[in-house]
Amino acid sequence: MNKNIKENFVVDAINIKTYPLSDYDNIVVMFSRERGLIKGIAKGVKRPKSKLGARMQMLVANKIMLRGGRNFDTICEAQALNTFNKLRSNLDKLSYSIYLTEIISAYCTDGDEENENNKAIYELFYNILEQVANAENEVEILLNIIRFQLKFMEQIGYGTELETCLKCGCKISEDAYFSIAQGGVVCSTCRYSGDNYIRVHKKIRDFLISQKNCQLGEKTDYDALVDKNFCERCFGLLKKYIDSRASKPTRALKILEKLK
Ligand SMILES: [Zn+2]
Repeated sequence: MNKNIKENFVVDAINIKTYPLSDYDNIVVMFSRERGLIKGIAKGVKRPKSKLGARMQMLVANKIMLRGGRNFDTICEAQALNTFNKLRSNLDKLSYSIYLTEIISAYCTDGDEENENNKAIYELFYNILEQVANAENEVEILLNIIRFQLKFMEQIGYGTELETCLKCGCKISEDAYFSIAQGGVVCSTCRYSGDNYIRVHKKIRDFLISQKNCQLGEKTDYDALVDKNFCERCFGLLKKYIDSRASKPTRALKILEKLK
């Protein structure tokens, strides 16, 4: 094993999970721009005067220096890039952001260092957290979460097909029928083929296509037209698809529902 033992390295990373290692130390799981999903020991982070302190809590982006170790890397220094504080003062913002961390943990794996998707996923995640933190209402939160769902799946090679029938290849112009198993739509003729489909109204399809194709942070014509109910239906459809492919189910929103 030649894992650059004792060599220091620096990454930009967002904390996605933390769990206890000992009385004073935690393990922090992070998603980094340079190396994807990584773990590091935050030594002494539970002591009152820890110099890492609040920078190690969930959903904080840091520039981190780590020292490579045999089993675990150790976090030596952390400089906050963005604390996304507004996420923590709103239960919807926090729950939906935790949902994003669950998608990342379910689809990204440790040691995925060479993966060229890491930079794009990091930038998507960072940007969406910032938009969600600054969102002014629930529709704005949902719009950004839906964009993450669509763009994340696209980035890792499981993009949704919303325009062309998966079976016959025709370009669909009206309502379509979405297959959770395949993450795409079929036309009204092909839907009788035995699989289970969810009917998707043309308006929902047009909206999802616009969100999938827009730039990060860009406003679309739909942003002012859609309401919470509409967004929740779109979100729910994508969530089913994402959960069906994931290595572990997402739970964050179940907790939100219980609390409400
Ligand atoms: Zn068809």
